[in-house]
Amino acid sequence: MSEKTIPYKIYLEESEMPTAWYNVRADMKNKPAPLLNPATHKPMTAEELGVVFCDELVAQELDNTNAYIPIPEEIRNFYKMYRPSPLVRAYCLEKKLGTPAKIYYKFEGNNTSGSHKLNSAIAQAYYAKKQGLKGVTTETGAGQWGTALSMACSYFDLDCKVYMVKVSYEQKPFRREVMRTYGASVTPSPSDTTEVGRKILAEHPGTGGSLGCAISEAVEVATSKDGYRYVLGSVLNQVLLHQSIIGLETKAALDKYNINPDIIIGCAGGGSNLGGLISPFMGEKLRGENDYRIIAVEPKSCPSFTRGKYAYDFCDTGMICPLAKMYTLGSNFIPSPNHAGGLRYHGMSSTLSQLYDDGLMEATSVEQTAVFEAAEQFARVEGILPAPESSHAIRVAIDEALKCKETGEEKTIVFGLTGTGYFDMVAYEKFHNGEMTDYIPTDEELAASFAKLPDVE
Ligand SMILES: *Cc1c(COP(=O)(O)O)cnc(C)c1O
Repeated sequence: MSEKTIPYKIYLEESEMPTAWYNVRADMKNKPAPLLNPATHKPMTAEELGVVFCDELVAQELDNTNAYIPIPEEIRNFYKMYRPSPLVRAYCLEKKLGTPAKIYYKFEGNNTSGSHKLNSAIAQAYYAKKQGLKGVTTETGAGQWGTALSMACSYFDLDCKVYMVKVSYEQKPFRREVMRTYGASVTPSPSDTTEVGRKILAEHPGTGGSLGCAISEAVEVATSKDGYRYVLGSVLNQVLLHQSIIGLETKAALDKYNINPDIIIGCAGGGSNLGGLISPFMGEKLRGENDYRIIAVEPKSCPSFTRGKYAYDFCDTGMICPLAKMYTLGSNFIPSPNHAGGLRYHGMSSTLSQLYDDGLMEATSVEQTAVFEAAEQFARVEGILPAPESSHAIRVAIDEALKCKETGEEKTIVFGLTGTGYFDMVAYEKFHNGEMTDYIPTDEELAASFAKLPDVE
């Protein structure tokens, strides 16, 4: 097919939309390590996990064998309101860079939550409703997950209790108000509404909170309140499964025009968008059908893949959640307050951790100012004002395209543009004023945090 017939935006017809999620674990020879009970260090059973999570989601979490899991019709119908998301050929960016590379991005910012997180939020709310629950609890850092979940809960008429990291609660009042518009209750964390919150407040008065701390509070409320369960917006296997919709659509759109990507790039916080984007491509790689270069991009201030340890660790500060084996900086690690809030988690999805450890994907880290330079460059030619998180992927996509300019290679690059940055204008302001800095943790700081990893195996 000739170059000219490839449109700026490749859409799928409703009839071409995926009807099942793809579970990459089914094709992995080395399965991700199981979650462990923090007290006994034995693999968590479905029964134990069922105290915290909805039953159907527990089944998905533990399913290492079924490659395809049908997407229930109610979820597919909700997806139809904002999906398929466009796969855009970045003709204008290519031209501006003067690169022979062909750049595509999958844009997930086309819904009110402004990110890919709604793909999993709607699924998790659906299963909670189906189980007859009253509501769900969760944490949110930058606010994207809380926003997505409050949208999903209002759709299914579920109560939604969000524990929001206190600094974000104070710095991002607009995110908070979007959540309240959708009917969620939002509590700044740490709070005095939970035992773990009171304990953390007593130990660290005046703390601005952290994701790990907000998780502990949300889990405590879910497990102590009748008819409630906890939901999480990233890291877990089930979340990567739901996010596979991104990759399945991308693959279907590329296949329509016989496009074979050479490089696939995504930003990595807990790993859900990247895991979702790459899943069908990784599946081909695992089955020996095709090969791709896959690159995870993380901030230099929170470098779980590139400087972390592959070890069992706590998922939360309060140490009440199961232990997960993952690339981690240690649950005690408090990343410096960089502006890509969604990339500040200390650990990484255990599925992606295993794939990375097996050499099936690469990782790189980038500095904040370089990320905002890329964000601005992208916004000026492609029209979309990207989220700081997403801009990590833009940075590396641009760098790879510039390498092609030097070598003359016409590589095809696909990257995930996870969301829009309208709620991040304070960060853009700092960048424009030249006030942006990037704190890179020292080896000593990381070593101190690694020393507190739990003693497992
Ligand atoms: C949450 C978020 C991320 C990072 O989360 P992952 O689970 O690693 O995908 C990236 N981009 C945006 C816009 C987000 O909201």
